[in-house]
Amino acid sequence: MALCMQQVIAFARQERETMKLLTVENAKTIKGEKLGYLTGILYLAPAEESGVMNTCQFASEGCKQDCLFTAGRGVFESVYKARVKKTLWLASDRAGFLEQLRRDIVSLVRSAKRQGLTPAVRLNGTSDLAWLPLQLSSEFPDVIFYDYTKLPHPQTRIRANYHLTFSRSESNHADVMDALAHGVNVAMVFDTPRGCSLPRSWNGYKLIDGDIHDLRFLDGYQGSVIGLRAKGKARKDSSSNFVLASDLFTPISRRRAA
Ligand code: SF4
Repeated sequence: MALCMQQVIAFARQERETMKLLTVENAKTIKGEKLGYLTGILYLAPAEESGVMNTCQFASEGCKQDCLFTAGRGVFESVYKARVKKTLWLASDRAGFLEQLRRDIVSLVRSAKRQGLTPAVRLNGTSDLAWLPLQLSSEFPDVIFYDYTKLPHPQTRIRANYHLTFSRSESNHADVMDALAHGVNVAMVFDTPRGCSLPRSWNGYKLIDGDIHDLRFLDGYQGSVIGLRAKGKARKDSSSNFVLASDLFTPISRRRAA
């Protein structure tokens, strides 16, 4: 999609009156509620999908192909369009976008309080912008923020109320090892089908099942691997090496028994 900036501004202006930026109810947030957290997630269009800005500077070919943008509710055209429109708004009117985001966070905090839950915010649901969560987490020091990121050196962007999990791709092995060496957990996608157990470890690093819930800040900083089952287009990916073959990391005794 190629739009000139005037079209972008007009397009975003038509929508912004009623547009909420944080999504509070989906499969991920429902799991969190059972653990006492009310999560608000901002879903933008990933990488260059919006046509007006790159929201994922370190996206690899494999992760763009398999992005979670194509999983869950992201497969619906209306959801896809809403994510593109939010990105157009950010690109054309950053101040107005931030004002709405602040309103949504205040509303999430109030709603969580009413329900006896703890608010948590994930601003890079399908993007990887460093500045956005750093700015908002400093403005809301009592709110927990968390994200996955492929931007190198995540340990330098961690804050008391901002938790980061590094995210492996087929082309960032050195950054994976750097993050693990600094105690940052690293998320990896495996071809393990839903309902089946993930490997217990990856190259000697303990593996935590990251599909049980999405509240990554509860993992702390252990220098562990967060295993995720392939979702969306990633389930059919056999070419990019973005998705790891789980049987390579299954102990031989368990492989024989299987
Ligand atoms: S960095 Fe994350 S959000 Fe961006 S394209 Fe890759 S998987 Fe999607």
